[in-house]
Amino acid sequence: MAGILVVAEKNEGEITPASFELLGAARQLADQGGGSVSALIAGSAADASTLIAHGADAAFTSAAPEDSLAEVLLPAVEAAVSQSGADIVLISMSSLGRDLGPALAFRAKSGVAMDCTALAIEGGKLRATRSCYGGNARAEHTWAGGLQIATVKAKTYDALPADGGRSGAVSAIDAIGEARIKVVGVEKATAEGVKLEDAEVVVSGGRGLGDPSGFQSLETLAGTFKQAAVGASRAACDLGWYPPSQQVGLTGKVVSPNLYIAVAISGASQHMAGMGGAKNIVAINRDADCNMVKVSRFAIIEDYKKVLPALIEEIKKLG
Ligand SMILES: Cc1cc2nc3c(=O)[nH]c(=O)nc-3n(C[C@H](O)[C@H](O)[C@H](O)COP(=O)(O)OP(=O)(O)OC[C@H]3O[C@@H](n4cnc5c(N)ncnc54)[C@H](O)[C@@H]3O)c2cc1C
Repeated sequence: MAGILVVAEKNEGEITPASFELLGAARQLADQGGGSVSALIAGSAADASTLIAHGADAAFTSAAPEDSLAEVLLPAVEAAVSQSGADIVLISMSSLGRDLGPALAFRAKSGVAMDCTALAIEGGKLRATRSCYGGNARAEHTWAGGLQIATVKAKTYDALPADGGRSGAVSAIDAIGEARIKVVGVEKATAEGVKLEDAEVVVSGGRGLGDPSGFQSLETLAGTFKQAAVGASRAACDLGWYPPSQQVGLTGKVVSPNLYIAVAISGASQHMAGMGGAKNIVAINRDADCNMVKVSRFAIIEDYKKVLPALIEEIKKLG
């Protein structure tokens, strides 16, 4: 029996948003003939029910701690694969997923496609798409046989809203691996305000700002929205104009806000890899022919220094 197993994760007691996104992806694959959707979580029966409400047909719980390393969770994943009959396993591209995907592939004598940006069922098999050649090309992978394992980039798929009417079997898995690695400490990155990945509006700046002071206007513009954060292109971060934690793109954060305002950013493929999923793109750029203008819904072709003060004033008038 073919099927899809989603490995869900918890962080600080909460199921991660990426886990719900994986369930959204799995449901799309199920609709394409991928089989039923199971989910595994190192968590409680209540967590399992939450996963079912968000799209799983059945769920497994493991008594392993929520912050388990791959080697601790691996036996439970193998047991869930065997009990569910899944031939596809979806894992978040989280720190756990980076280890778990290859470890599972090694044990299953199969292969793993890492950091996937699209998944589809074709001819009953998984087809996984990921970036390659530094974001300049896309590679499509299929499996010759065996377990098809993919880790999925965050924000690639939308989570489904919870449906309390959904029901499914919940089973506990006892198998727990032995930890040979000890985590001696975890340091949290401090961030003020809305997280870039969670922002409804992202205002990003690029090399065309000319100097770091340009980001002050971007912060003022972001301040006119309720749920906004400021991002930057890699060029701007590399110049030391804005913190690397705010970099958007292939080697930075992936965002999918309702509104992405790209100020003086050309729209290189590596930048687009981080914000191509934005619902509405507004480009402010002097170059009408640059890629960011081409992909935008609205564009203002002008020096950003003239545009931003006027834009901020108009938005403030709207209250
Ligand atoms: C392996 C690899 C990974 C990478 N990862 C990332 C990544 O994660 N994120 C990322 O962003 N890049 C990444 N890059 C770099 C990427 O290829 C581009 O070099 C970078 O995105 C360019 O940044 P930019 O658009 O700010 O600068 P530029 O390409 O220099 O564009 C500046 C833009 O500003 C406009 N401009 C100039 N002056 C003004 C003005 N006064 N008013 C309005 N507009 C103005 C110009 O017309 C131009 O369009 C990566 C590259 C590689 C090879």
